[in-house]
Amino acid sequence: MVDKMKFGVLIRAHQAEVHERPIPELGDNEVLIKQEACNICTTDYGQWMGLREHQPYPMAGGHEVSGIVVKKGKNVRKDLYIGDRVAYMHYFCGECDACRSGYTSDCINNPGFPKWPDGYYGFFGFADYNVKDAKLLIKMNKDLPPEQAGFLEPVSTVIQGAKRIKIIPGETVVVVGAGTMGLINAQVARLYGGRVIITEMMERKIEKARKLGFEDVINISKEDPAKKVKELTNGKGADVIIMAVGNSKANQQALDMLKKLRGKILFFAAGFPIPELKISSNDIHYRKMELIGTYNADIDSFFDAAEYLNKRLINVQPLIEESFPLEYIQKAFEIASIPGNYRVSVKL
Ligand SMILES: [Zn+2]
Ligand SMILES: [Zn+2]
Repeated sequence: MVDKMKFGVLIRAHQAEVHERPIPELGDNEVLIKQEACNICTTDYGQWMGLREHQPYPMAGGHEVSGIVVKKGKNVRKDLYIGDRVAYMHYFCGECDACRSGYTSDCINNPGFPKWPDGYYGFFGFADYNVKDAKLLIKMNKDLPPEQAGFLEPVSTVIQGAKRIKIIPGETVVVVGAGTMGLINAQVARLYGGRVIITEMMERKIEKARKLGFEDVINISKEDPAKKVKELTNGKGADVIIMAVGNSKANQQALDMLKKLRGKILFFAAGFPIPELKISSNDIHYRKMELIGTYNADIDSFFDAAEYLNKRLINVQPLIEESFPLEYIQKAFEIASIPGNYRVSVKL
């Protein structure tokens, strides 16, 4: 049996390396996983680019992971088998009031980026082996490629948002931005029965949206999105707007294309510098608007995400830009941080 794990770690901005450490001892409620793929999220490449200085180094990050169960602690549930493919939920303790109410993303015991005794931070997503708490694992289909199974976490955050904004079948949902998260949002909104319109300015992202079957994609570098959305909705405007980008200009466009009464806007993405939203509370009041935030995902949305991915109700294959073996982690981060690129996957 192997006793060492190899993992990708950010030493400082613009520098990712592969290190080695002993595999931690397996606890009674834990599982040893042979990790297969970990996709590079904005949280990861943002730090690589030096844009997330609140995240410490050395960061053994990565959280969009899938792998195979190779060993079980003695208290691990029976229906988790050696050889099962799994992906991970975010950490939750399962004991606090938030967890016991189902709001696992509000867990008060979430360590954020934990610091381990050997000095590393993070959850070792870019590692060939890892030890995980069994309750955080969700089974993924054996025939789902590992890099697609790694989409469990991003898809779950999108589902959480869709539940919060309460999409009603037939509503016009405008998704602002056709990056990875925008196109997952668009697919989930379509699955919830929304009639989806996408706004985007980059040509290659517009093409990608079309490839995923979205016909109404507005190129905002050529057309006024508010005017075009009104045209596509008989002058009414959008019922729902999902902001998959975070900037002041996009916020203004959203306000301009929202229908007059009972419009809903979901703020799915954060933005840096901090975006502004110029609206008076009287407008929100008289127009009966709903402005809703969403961040992270609770346990129910993780289970929904596994269903959607396992049943191929959501197609994430086109959202994988490229795949690199762990030795090329530095290169993988370089490619991941090129604007306009979709998810880069690290093969473990
Ligand atoms: Zn992520
Ligand atoms: Zn908790």
